[in-house]
Amino acid sequence: MYYSAMKVAVLTSGGDAPGMNAAARAFIRRAIWEGYEAHGIYHGYEGLLAKEIKKLSSRDVGMIINQGGTFLGTSRSERFKTDEGRQEAADILKAKKIDALCVIGGDGSFRGALNLSEVYKGQIVGIPGTIDNDIPGTEYTIGFDTAVETAVWAIDKIRDTALAHGRLFLVEVMGRNSGQIALSVALSCGAEDVVIPEEKNNIEGMVKRIREGREKGKRFGIIVVAEGHDEGGAIKLAQTMEKDYGLESKVSILGHIQRGGTPSSYDRVWGSRMGEAAVRFIKNQYTNVFTAMKGGQLVPAYLKEAVSGIRTVEPEMVQLVRIVGS
Ligand code: ADP
Repeated sequence: MYYSAMKVAVLTSGGDAPGMNAAARAFIRRAIWEGYEAHGIYHGYEGLLAKEIKKLSSRDVGMIINQGGTFLGTSRSERFKTDEGRQEAADILKAKKIDALCVIGGDGSFRGALNLSEVYKGQIVGIPGTIDNDIPGTEYTIGFDTAVETAVWAIDKIRDTALAHGRLFLVEVMGRNSGQIALSVALSCGAEDVVIPEEKNNIEGMVKRIREGREKGKRFGIIVVAEGHDEGGAIKLAQTMEKDYGLESKVSILGHIQRGGTPSSYDRVWGSRMGEAAVRFIKNQYTNVFTAMKGGQLVPAYLKEAVSGIRTVEPEMVQLVRIVGS
């Protein structure tokens, strides 16, 4: 009797994140271990549309677990956002006889995966890969730990100058819609305050806290600013603070260094665990789910939950930064 192996494929999409390689590697190797035929799709949804699909062996994913970025490459695809683009993608997957697709990416990539499921009849499983840790339904997204470590490493150096010169520094970290990175970074580096998109009209309170600190003898300060807060970035915030409150500060924007670099062991562990779990979920006939961390456990959660908004920050964390940084 003719037997044809199950065919699975994996792609990375949207912003790259350290640990994506560990996830793709674990997915490919677990799939092969299961007897499946494993494929890599290069350059995200754009690469899928360009048929950049290659059968991979276990050896093809060697020597990547310690590398940042994604060996598969990634993209942002406008074509995939159209109905015609997704129909074309579904036709390509069908023609290549791909039975299940694994999408490693952020909420945008998950939205794309859900929309694809309306025209693609195979199974779809997501792995949350974004440094932002802003996806609802999971306590962790791979890449977050490394990004926070990188920002803390940089701020530890900035602190030396802030102390030497008795200066106030505004350090901008990533987070267009979410303050998760800013909060963990602020807490880890002992910042005086944190400015996040979730908290509006915060400047007056912050200025008051800085002045109180100075009265108590604080000579320098670090304030961690998420890029997407309502004033619009650290430079604008510094201008407002000087113009409206006469408070001088220096600005440092950490930018893309937070995205790259050697993944931390935490991101390698969770990348590997989620990559392996994605194959198990496929084997167990799940579809339109993603590998989620809930209560510290790895479980399937619906993609619908992941695209329902931005994961909320805990107000206690914001309060904690201010109490221990005061
Ligand atoms: P991330 O996955 O890191 O959040 P993006 O938001 O840029 O990154 O999304 C990555 C890609 O996912 C987009 O370039 C697009 O191709 C696809 N995508 C995003 N939103 C949608 C959508 N609503 N419908 C279809 N595809 C989408």
